[in-house]
Amino acid sequence: MLHPQSFDVIVVGGGHAGTEAALAAARMGCTTLLLTHNIETLGQMSCNPSIGGIGKGHLVKEVDALGGAMAAATDEAGIQFRILNGSKGPAVRATRAQADRILYKAAIRHRLENQPNLWLFQQAVDDLTVESDGQRERVTGAVTQAGIRFRGKTVVLTAGTFLDGRIHIGLQNHSAGRAGDPPAVTLSARLKELKLPQGRLKTGTPPRIDGRSIDFSQLTEQPGDLDPVPVFSFLGSASQHPRQVPCWITHTNAQTHAIIRSGFDRSPMFTGVIEGVGPRYCPSIEDKVNRFADKDSHQIFLEPEGLTTHEFYPNGISTSLPFDIQLPALHSMPGLQNAHILRPGYAIEYDFFDPRELTASFETRAIGGLFFAGQINGTTGYEEAAAQGLFAGANAALQARGLEPLRLGRDQAYLGVLVDDLITKGVSEPYRMFTSRAEFRLQLREDNADARLTEIGRGLGLVDEQRWAAFNRKREAVARTAEALKRCWVNPSVLAAADAERLLGKAIEHEYNLADLLRRPGVDFNGVVAVAGAAGVHLPVSRETLAAELGETLAATVVEQVEIATKYAGYIGKQVDDVARAAHFEHLKLPADLDYSQVKALSFEVRQKLGRHRPETLGQASRLSGVTPAAISLLLVHLKKGR
Ligand code: FAD
Repeated sequence: MLHPQSFDVIVVGGGHAGTEAALAAARMGCTTLLLTHNIETLGQMSCNPSIGGIGKGHLVKEVDALGGAMAAATDEAGIQFRILNGSKGPAVRATRAQADRILYKAAIRHRLENQPNLWLFQQAVDDLTVESDGQRERVTGAVTQAGIRFRGKTVVLTAGTFLDGRIHIGLQNHSAGRAGDPPAVTLSARLKELKLPQGRLKTGTPPRIDGRSIDFSQLTEQPGDLDPVPVFSFLGSASQHPRQVPCWITHTNAQTHAIIRSGFDRSPMFTGVIEGVGPRYCPSIEDKVNRFADKDSHQIFLEPEGLTTHEFYPNGISTSLPFDIQLPALHSMPGLQNAHILRPGYAIEYDFFDPRELTASFETRAIGGLFFAGQINGTTGYEEAAAQGLFAGANAALQARGLEPLRLGRDQAYLGVLVDDLITKGVSEPYRMFTSRAEFRLQLREDNADARLTEIGRGLGLVDEQRWAAFNRKREAVARTAEALKRCWVNPSVLAAADAERLLGKAIEHEYNLADLLRRPGVDFNGVVAVAGAAGVHLPVSRETLAAELGETLAATVVEQVEIATKYAGYIGKQVDDVARAAHFEHLKLPADLDYSQVKALSFEVRQKLGRHRPETLGQASRLSGVTPAAISLLLVHLKKGR
């Protein structure tokens, strides 16, 4: 294997964004270099060892549908899996897994080391080389701490929390990228020199506990879903999972809150030492005690960090209070009276870049060929980072080959919602994904991420032969099964009233096909198969025939698809109509040279905003803050007049 002198794509940073970016570009056939501080920390989980959850699980499935690594690595590393919102509608059902952080890192590293076209290199990147073609600056490569230069047609920067990172524990603070890792100070200064707009954000993490010092007899056990154990990847199976273990629940109390309050005067957040804004949806324990003063207890989940370590992650008490407050606060909780802290909790402040200065392909507007992905764009979370990484990596690869960028609509993917939210609205606090951010969420389910995206991924070269074959097998089986239900008719003369009542809750009054009967509340696929059996009509499919043909896991997903598509056909159809109605304006291109200052019908503020952000479509323009529906109508009139 000859090491190339220059690369199609250089990815800086080996976190969740960087690893997916590098894998994506390499899968697409581009010579790719992943440059990172430390090969040992590839795929490291900086905070809690868990993947997925509501909104986030949706992103993981989308990454998987596009051939990415996160879901498959989680299947190999997950020590507890759960389906959240299992009793609610399919749009908000989500998979969450507790991962063994050592196994997770190993699974990611294995994929990186075995990916054709991908080279790894350990060294801090201190500089980006930029050349001007007279019109616009363009990135040409990266320079490491030791002065080693790499040339790249495109560069994807995924520096996470490392840019000018500063760790705070009480009023003490020091420079770091995260605990135990160096910050990226020189690169941060270089990016400021390049005039890429930036701000400061912060995030925090709880102290970690030695499990040998926990009294589990005082805690409530929380097992995962065991029958069946969920899987993350569309190609995954529960047989890949390591041993499954429970989590545990304790809670804070009035004494804990009093101890926490006694540290407020030395809290870097409350004393103004930290200026960066933290995630509203993931507040520190001091924030919770302060904001919800009337609540005298908060639930804390004790999550194992792995099968080969005693380390536990207490989810819900992220803190930057001084260590002498963290320890007694922990000791005041049931089961933790003798807890030994292995690593103190801390907050980290870091630079992020205003994502409104990115195009819809995540290329910076200021510097051609330079793409940003992950926490650097103002997001928080592994899943958000991975999804952005895959997207930016694919777009960097497409640009390196002179091809059109990948764009995903808000109606196609949570990834489309994520990109659009970031580039149109920017962030005022760390952005995390929620299902409520998607207006077409009945369409954007976890279970159909493959149906939405795998074909697109295949067209780009992101999806390999094995995934494509499995996807087609499933797609064909879903279509065949749904068709079989529509073609199978039963009427009162063949279905005895007693059987109908037992299987359907009431007798049938006229002829129905099985798809119609499946739409009835409380009736599932096995139920209509039993109806066919009782009526003595031939139905060529059943759970057993599908399992014999496709295996248990795939058969279960085929049945699930048929059930959801049939039961929700009315709502899904309406949403498809809504998307189609909105599509014309959503995708209407705004001329790249449109001089907004001349659109006099618009207010000065709106003209300024549109001129500054230069949205590519009318849909993007409509989501800029302060751009009202009335302004969009005026813009439309202006565009029509110009034709
Ligand atoms: P990271 O995972 O940070 O990876 C960045 C990578 O880039 C690292 O490998 C680093 O070594 C490398 N790198 C950086 N600069 C350079 C350089 N100049 N040269 C070479 N390599 C470089 N998320 C949540 O969802 N919930 C939480 O509660 C939460 N709490 C957090 C608490 C803390 C203290 C931290 C640090 C993070 C927390 N996160 C949390 C965020 C989560 O860790 C990130 O969102 C996620 O890891 C971002 O992925 P990334 O790939 O963008 O960056």
